[in-house]
Parts: sequence; C-alpha cells; structure tokens
Amino acid sequence: MAIQQKLSLMIPGPTPVPEKVLQALSKHPIGHRSKEFQELVASTTKNLQWLHQTQNDVLTITGSGTAAMEAGIINTLSKGDKVICGENGKFGERWVQVAKEFGLEVIKIQSKWGTPLNPEEFKKILEEDKQKEIKAVILTHSETSTGVINDLETISSYILAHKKALSIVDCVTSLGACNVPVDKWQLDIVASGSQKGYMIPPGLSFIAISQKAWEAAEKSNLPKFYLNLKSYRKSLTSNSNPYTPAVNLVFALDESLKMMRAEGLDNIFSRHKKHKLAMSNAMKALDLELFADEKCLSPSITAVKTGEIDAEEFRKTIKNNFDILLAGGQDHMKGKIFRIGHLGYVNDRDIITAVSAISNTLLKLGKITAQQAGEALVVSSRYLEEN
Ligand SMILES: *Cc1c(COP(=O)(O)O)cnc(C)c1O
Repeated sequence: MAIQQKLSLMIPGPTPVPEKVLQALSKHPIGHRSKEFQELVASTTKNLQWLHQTQNDVLTITGSGTAAMEAGIINTLSKGDKVICGENGKFGERWVQVAKEFGLEVIKIQSKWGTPLNPEEFKKILEEDKQKEIKAVILTHSETSTGVINDLETISSYILAHKKALSIVDCVTSLGACNVPVDKWQLDIVASGSQKGYMIPPGLSFIAISQKAWEAAEKSNLPKFYLNLKSYRKSLTSNSNPYTPAVNLVFALDESLKMMRAEGLDNIFSRHKKHKLAMSNAMKALDLELFADEKCLSPSITAVKTGEIDAEEFRKTIKNNFDILLAGGQDHMKGKIFRIGHLGYVNDRDIITAVSAISNTLLKLGKITAQQAGEALVVSSRYLEEN
C-alpha cells in the first residue's frame, strides 16, 4: 500500500527537493524591496552566472520555463521575422506554436520523435541565407518528451557562422545536468526552469541573455509587458525585481545554488551521466527497448518502450506498489512508453530502487526471468561504481 508522503518523484519535473531547500522555503517571506532581499538577489545572480558559465546577464522570472522561452522570443524578434525552429518532440512543437502565435515566419527543421535534429540541415539553410533574413534559430537542447539530447554545440557553431541569427535555446532539462557553457558556445538566449535541475519547486524560470540579444531587443516590436526583459535588467542593476517575485522560491534558489556550488559542475555532470548509463543499460538488460537513439541519450530522462504492455498500467502498478512516480508518454506515445526522470536531487539509491521496481514488475508479469532481474541490478551497479 502506498504512503503518499513518501512518494519518490522520478519524473522530469517537478523533481525531488532537498530538506535544506524545503526548510528555506518554509521561512516567513521578507519584503522584496528590503536590503536583505537585495543581498539574496546579488548572491543568486552571481551563482546563476556560475551555473551558466557566463558573464552575461542571467535574469530570474516568476513563471515556469515556458515564460522564459516566450520572453526570449518576444524580446528579441519582430512580427514577420523569419526563424528556424528545430522540432523533434513535444517541446520543439511548443516553440513552433509560440513563434506562430506571435506572427513569426517559421522554417521547421524536423526529426522523428526519438531521433536527434540533424545539424547539417541547420548548416544548409543558414548558409543559403545570403540575404541574412533568418533572425533566430529556436531549439530544445534536451527534448524531455523523447529523452533525446540534440547536438547544441555543433548547431550553435553553424548559427555563429551565419553571424546575424540569434540562438534561442530551451535548456530546461540540460542545464545543471550536462555541460552548457553559455559563453564558450556563445549562446544568445538560454532558458531554464526551477523544477528541473535546480532542485526547487516549480515557479521560477531563468534566462541568460547575450549582448547581441540585448542589441536585437532594441529593435523588437512584439507586444510585452510582464515579460519585458529590459525592466528586469534595469531592476537587476540594484539587485531588485520590477514586480513582486516569488520571495520564498528565491530563498530556496539561494540554498540550492549553494549546494550545487559545493558539489561542483564536473561532479554534477558526471553524476547525471552515470545515472543515465546505469538506467539505460539496466533497461536493455530487461529486454526493454529505449525510445531514443542510443547515440543521443538525454542526461536527465530515459524513455522506455513497453511493447505489448500498456505503459500507463505499468506506471500505475509501480506507483501503487513502490511509491515511485514515473512519467508517461505524451501525445501519440501515451501508453507506449514510460519515462524515468533522473534529474537534480537524485542519488544512486534512487536509481537502484527504480531499476528494482521495474524489474520486479516485469517479473510478476512473466516478461522476464529472475536471472534477468538480477542482471539488471548488476549492470546498473557496475555503471554506478565506474564513475
Ligand atoms: C519542463 C520543460 C519545460 C518547461 O515547462 P513548464 O511547464 O513551462 O515549466 C520546457 N522545456 C522542456 C524541454 C521541459 O522539459
């Protein structure tokens, strides 16, 4: 029987929250114009720049990840602008929708769900654009709906070669999970959200903005008020906010960024990498097929095909018997895959427990042998030890 209070979240957001961060959340709010709060903003801003590996402005918005992405689009572009949108999953589709809603002319570069975007297609279209009409390239780094990571480093090099186009990137499930060196790759807009790698509850989003993007903002004519980033930039010069921010979430953010700094970027990235390898290889040992192409597995989500088994029933069984919440498939993949989130505050024990719950359930369904169930644990443990 499930004990709701001890439900383990293994979905790609919201992710588990450390006790220290929960305690920070439970304090009385303070005035958002107080000196105390300004000191907090100074601290989080400095640590956000560290996390993004950038000297650029990193703004905090009260709103979910979608707010940061929408802000990136409406602050730098104008009606009728031509943009490229990479689309190989649910989130890529969302950016196409947002771009169209604001009257942009969208050139789609698509790839089948479960496969990565092909950088060469970006290169070709950008190289052919001699008139420099393409104003931005919008894409998702880690496509959470499929568990695929796109080759942002290569694609961003082609965007840079074009010179004119901005890069607007959804790094919601890559930032704080794998390397996203914003300055080195010269990314113009990088969006992320609190309920993912940041280890805090939903409600804040973050946007890193380059000088080039600020220049584009001078010409942008799309309507905006709450998400007008110039207001946020102006307030940030005095470590403040244009409107009332989610004060308690900023307490939490300060705590979680300090935890991340104490762990160090390399350790954070290698932890996510070993969890990805342990999980994906354990699934293969259980004769389950990965949904994503193995050359481009996301560091934070493993999507798994269930074949004849109804993935929704399977998830329900795991939740009821083991208090572990897995995510389902979205849209046409509903019932056909489940997705395991291993992003943020996740340790080896979480991985081993999830592997055991999955193998135990398959064993009971008569889909695998006890030997295979054991092998899956041996395989995952090996990857956990190696790194
Ligand atoms: C979670 C997520 C978002 C943000 O979604 P919100 O619900 O607005 O926080 C955006 N992109 C990706 C890839 C995500 O995983």
